[in-house]
Amino acid sequence: MYDSIIIGAGVSGCACARELSRYSANILVVEKEEDVCCGTSKANSAIVHAGYDAAHGSLMARLNVEGSRRMPALAKELDFAYEQCGSLVVCLSEEDRPALEKLYENGVANGVEGLRIIERDELVLMEPNIADSAVAALWAPTGGIVCPFGLTFALAENAAKNGVAFRFDTKVTGLHPIKGGWAVETDGGTLEARCIVNAAGVYADTLHNLADAAHPMKITARRGDYFLLDHTAGQHVRHTVFQLPGKYGKGVLVTPTVHGNLLVGPTAIDVDDKEATATTAAGLDEVRTKSGLAVKDIPLRQTITSFAGLRAHEARHDFFIGEIAPGFVDCAAIESPGLSSAPAIGAMVAGIVRDSLHLKEKADFDPTRKGILDPKTLDFAARAELIRQNPAYGQIICRCESVTEGEIIDAIRRTPGARSLDGVKRRTRAGMGRCQAGFCSPRVMEILSRELGVDQSEITKSGGGSKIIVGTNKDTL
Ligand SMILES: Cc1cc2nc3c(=O)[nH]c(=O)nc-3n(C[C@H](O)[C@H](O)[C@H](O)COP(=O)(O)OP(=O)(O)OC[C@H]3O[C@@H](n4cnc5c(N)ncnc54)[C@H](O)[C@@H]3O)c2cc1C
Repeated sequence: MYDSIIIGAGVSGCACARELSRYSANILVVEKEEDVCCGTSKANSAIVHAGYDAAHGSLMARLNVEGSRRMPALAKELDFAYEQCGSLVVCLSEEDRPALEKLYENGVANGVEGLRIIERDELVLMEPNIADSAVAALWAPTGGIVCPFGLTFALAENAAKNGVAFRFDTKVTGLHPIKGGWAVETDGGTLEARCIVNAAGVYADTLHNLADAAHPMKITARRGDYFLLDHTAGQHVRHTVFQLPGKYGKGVLVTPTVHGNLLVGPTAIDVDDKEATATTAAGLDEVRTKSGLAVKDIPLRQTITSFAGLRAHEARHDFFIGEIAPGFVDCAAIESPGLSSAPAIGAMVAGIVRDSLHLKEKADFDPTRKGILDPKTLDFAARAELIRQNPAYGQIICRCESVTEGEIIDAIRRTPGARSLDGVKRRTRAGMGRCQAGFCSPRVMEILSRELGVDQSEITKSGGGSKIIVGTNKDTL
């Protein structure tokens, strides 16, 4: 019997796993997909929200501010990409100024530091491409941007380093209480644990309802569509630019990413299908129209891809975290700002599990993790020496993002390591560039096949049936 089984390897589940790995306990993370970060955590705005937006007094507000405060130190400890670029909420009409002031006051009440309302003159100096109609903005210097994959993998790797086990391709299909804990039915057999953490994203309601049918929960998938623009557009804004909800509707954001791209979106469209992550022409049209209200001349022709993610929306619009039945802890309704709050969510959930199981801290917990070495960050001499020692760092596999064979091998050999093209892409950025994997896929497949000791016909894009090679031309002939 495990001490704890965490269901879901998104940013919430991995943050819980990492924080729980501080204690002497036997912990397993169960994930239905083939890798970490395959749900909502892979498709979002990647903003570390400062915390002025969530309603004062809510759990969301408290964990957002705490998560945002913890993020800079965590980024150093776990070596993932994070930048405190600051954010602006732009007011596009004098009529909406009271709403801007209300947002400022909510932020001050939430404990967000450094908030200031700035007037148009200062705004234009900060953001030369701001729309002509912008009259003022809320400036939040503690706002930031993060690599959502980098954060999630870092948490997972550090948890694994401290003894947490991961089981992928394993879907939880049922749950029932047993003596001293819970039986977890999966498509790979029954598992048992003293305590369950439900971090199943948009499916957290299904698991909640199995554990506590008397108080049902309903999570609605709320889709957000985006455009991702090439590096050449990455400097179009310097800070995250939000629109103040008001006269022109809710608006969309325009932000640089930690990897130098420009991200524009999202929409907010409720969908019935919790797997419906395809963008739609209507959704992207909405992003196109709304983004131009706050930022002018966005070079949308430099779009390299579009994507959509699903928020786990619950009617109360607050995070739902707590022990709902003995030994069953919900980490549910983690919609935005779940990414920003993840460090605080992990600590809160781990505290609940610790108290429930009376866990003791481990003397040998190691809070550090080293990210994949990126030779681009080295000076010429250091890079030459690295290549001399390991020639794989001299082989460029992804030309768009300059990713070397050495980085890809490192990504595959980690725990948990990459097993698919998407696994390599999210860890190294091979395939993230303007050709969107057109050139590097066959070479990444060769490396995966060699490193994993499987035939290339077994390599998938993202696990399951997503095989790339389905036969050879000569077989057909
Ligand atoms: C459009 C959009 C924009 C956003 N922007 C931001 C932002 O800028 N900043 C911010 O802070 N937050 C943002 N968020 C919110 C943030 O992305 C989420 O709060 C966060 O990623 C949720 O993580 P999670 O681990 O709870 O869920 P997920 O990442 O969805 O993880 C849940 C995991 O559980 C697994 N699972 C589900 N059911 C089962 C089962 N039965 N058995 C086994 N495994 C199962 C899934 O496969 C999945 O991997 C945004 C979200 C969206 C959609």
